[in-house]
Amino acid sequence: MHHDPLTPVPTRARRRPGGRPGRTGSRAALPLLAAACLLLVAGCSGSTSTSASTPGPSAPTGTATSAGGTGKPTTPAGSAQAERAAAFRKWGIPVLADPPPPPAVKPVKSGKGLLPVVSDVPTTRKIVFVTFDDGAEKDPKFVRMMQDLKIPFTMFLTNAIIQNDYGFFKPLQALGNSIENHTLTHPNLNTESLAAQKHEICGQQTKLTHEYGTAPGLFRPPYGNHNAATKEAVRSCGGLRAIILWRESMQIKKVQFQRPDHMFHPGDIILAHFRGPSELKGESMTKMTANMLRQIAQQGFTVARLEDYV
Ligand SMILES: [Zn+2]
Repeated sequence: MHHDPLTPVPTRARRRPGGRPGRTGSRAALPLLAAACLLLVAGCSGSTSTSASTPGPSAPTGTATSAGGTGKPTTPAGSAQAERAAAFRKWGIPVLADPPPPPAVKPVKSGKGLLPVVSDVPTTRKIVFVTFDDGAEKDPKFVRMMQDLKIPFTMFLTNAIIQNDYGFFKPLQALGNSIENHTLTHPNLNTESLAAQKHEICGQQTKLTHEYGTAPGLFRPPYGNHNAATKEAVRSCGGLRAIILWRESMQIKKVQFQRPDHMFHPGDIILAHFRGPSELKGESMTKMTANMLRQIAQQGFTVARLEDYV
């Protein structure tokens, strides 16, 4: 923990020796970032567009296409934008573009007997969706990071894992992020009876509604394992409109891609976890999250809110 390079540092200390080039995100730092990309070719594949389109208020040309859908150029500066840029700089992440406004009609249809199983959302916007599962690691620094960055994300929480501290997730929820259903005890649902699946899913629906004041609308099966009984159980609980899987999963330092091109595609859902040093080989959750956001930025994407699209 002492050596966590992502501990927020005062502005004056930003250029101390040992700071990595990737930690900067301002206009002034773009040439530096480009230089870093030349040095770290492997980490910057697709390079020209990568460094040039690092999204952010100080790079409106890249932003307009990266955000894909706002349809008008971004006005630079503005105190809110300057604050946003400073927050990203503080955590060593290139500034992500603001997400485009939510679509008027959600591209994933649900209700009326439909229960879609979603790994990616149909959209042409250069957006991805970030999800954090289980709830094991309860790192106050992660809360500060998200309060600073205001990145939209979705939490899929398991009661047995969060019950020692329901309160930890409330400030994250207060930022506008939804708490969604990930069962009571995290079983492999494929080996459970219909009755047991109903207990796991509907029981967690009741629990989360009680603890957090709103009923979840999305369900993610542990390990992604689900069968016909899972769908029946999800339907029986009421209130759940989709089963959510994923296209990429965040490892300790790198995003693991399902597709062979190793690229994000518009609308992809990314799986990450509330994980701490014991699972991350000494790395912190904030560092893991920064690694993930950096890779999203490098490919010219930004993060949107899953519940606006499903
Ligand atoms: Zn899980």
